[in-house]
Amino acid sequence: MIREGRVSGGYDQLMKITRKFLNMSRELGRPGNRLVILGEGNTSAGVNDETFLVKASGTQLEHLNEDQVAHVRFDKILPMLDESLSDEVIEERLLAARVNEKGLKPSVETTFHGWLLRQEGVNFVGHTHPVEVNKILCSDAAPLFAENRLFPDEIVCCGPKSLLVDYVDPGSQLGAAIRAGWQEFTRDHGIAPKIILIRNHGMIAVGLRRNRCWCLPSWLPRRRRSSTVPGPRVRLCLCPRRRCSGSKIGWMNTTGRNN
Ligand SMILES: [Zn+2]
Repeated sequence: MIREGRVSGGYDQLMKITRKFLNMSRELGRPGNRLVILGEGNTSAGVNDETFLVKASGTQLEHLNEDQVAHVRFDKILPMLDESLSDEVIEERLLAARVNEKGLKPSVETTFHGWLLRQEGVNFVGHTHPVEVNKILCSDAAPLFAENRLFPDEIVCCGPKSLLVDYVDPGSQLGAAIRAGWQEFTRDHGIAPKIILIRNHGMIAVGLRRNRCWCLPSWLPRRRRSSTVPGPRVRLCLCPRRRCSGSKIGWMNTTGRNN
């Protein structure tokens, strides 16, 4: 619930950001997009230097409405990244971070949203569990998928590489792992990642505008699904044998053979 609380830029500005935030969330949650399972995933948008909007816990992206948006303070969320907290304390801290005490509890993944929204060029964050991408993130091919690009548009849209983060349970520990990975990636490559892939979990797209957050996860799975047509092809073996050499990236010609 976001009807109360002081926001620089005024109420109209808050409502404008809220509309964009809700549109992005519903688009990501549309079943036909196959980006979330059972309405899971979560989203956020920066309001100003002090506060941001994040999906409330237990709500579904597809039907998200204004009363299911938590409006929270950065200064209450960010310190959680450096603390080891019990589940009970995390719940208390999330509730205490609300601008409006009558609002719903923010998502358990609010910590990484808060940290990402403080990074340069990030106004919107979309975290999804795309079916096609998760098939790869639950396999040994995850590093291959994160580190390789197949054609120029992919580099433009997704950056030269994606940040790959090992599985950590959702919560402040995942937030800390994403922060550490982001900082290392930025140091090594001189640029920030546009996509974060979390092994055995899902992906995060960040951007200045809301459309990047739903465009990237919608587009990325096509790289996998388009593997039966000529052109760039990712051949990923998802069999359980760890020594299997079936994963391969290359170009498929018109005869259907891998080059
Ligand atoms: Zn998640």
